[in-house]
Amino acid sequence: MSDPFIQNEQYNLIKEQVMLVKESRMQSLPPSVLRAVIDLAQSKVMYAFPEATTEQLKLLQFTTLQTNEAFDEYMQRLREWVQPFPVISAEQLKSLFPKQKKLRLPELSDVDFGRLTYLGWNDGRSNQKLIICQYEGQLIGIACKPSTNTKKNICAFCNQFTDVTYCVTITKAKQAKNPDYYKAIGTYVCVDSKTCNEHITSQEALHTFVHTALQT
Ligand SMILES: [Zn+2]
Repeated sequence: MSDPFIQNEQYNLIKEQVMLVKESRMQSLPPSVLRAVIDLAQSKVMYAFPEATTEQLKLLQFTTLQTNEAFDEYMQRLREWVQPFPVISAEQLKSLFPKQKKLRLPELSDVDFGRLTYLGWNDGRSNQKLIICQYEGQLIGIACKPSTNTKKNICAFCNQFTDVTYCVTITKAKQAKNPDYYKAIGTYVCVDSKTCNEHITSQEALHTFVHTALQT
């Protein structure tokens, strides 16, 4: 058997699609319509795994499942194939933010590394949101300043309409017209990183944010 091949956000995508199928099965849809819903959901899942082996694709198959129990078992079985986020020590965390001597670290023993696309936490003392993710094979730490007010809006990372703050980070790029200032970028991000990680279905927006923040 192969190694874990499902990333947290892919697992969330599968969960989302399975939920959609389960809900559609409860409605009295014409069989051909229900079939189309199931096929579309299945292809969205397959599309998220362009490099999967035949064996892995077989594990992802849910078109033949009939009952809610079978879907729940399927989701449970896939949990075993989820690749956990690298377990990080407090020392490693600190080394990602070398200039921040007083950084308050998250309670690492409370973090479920098996369900993370990124590690995020709010440091109220320094009024920062810290984000750690894997980017191009490396662990990257980004420090953001969140807006003081929380509001309901769409989180850029997970696409949920929820409590967000506007998080701004300073990039390494200089502003073209004003070389003394570094460029800042901002985006709405969930206040609660744990729920964000439970809903994120793609790394795309997160990686775009990190990519822009690292630009020189
Ligand atoms: Zn979010």
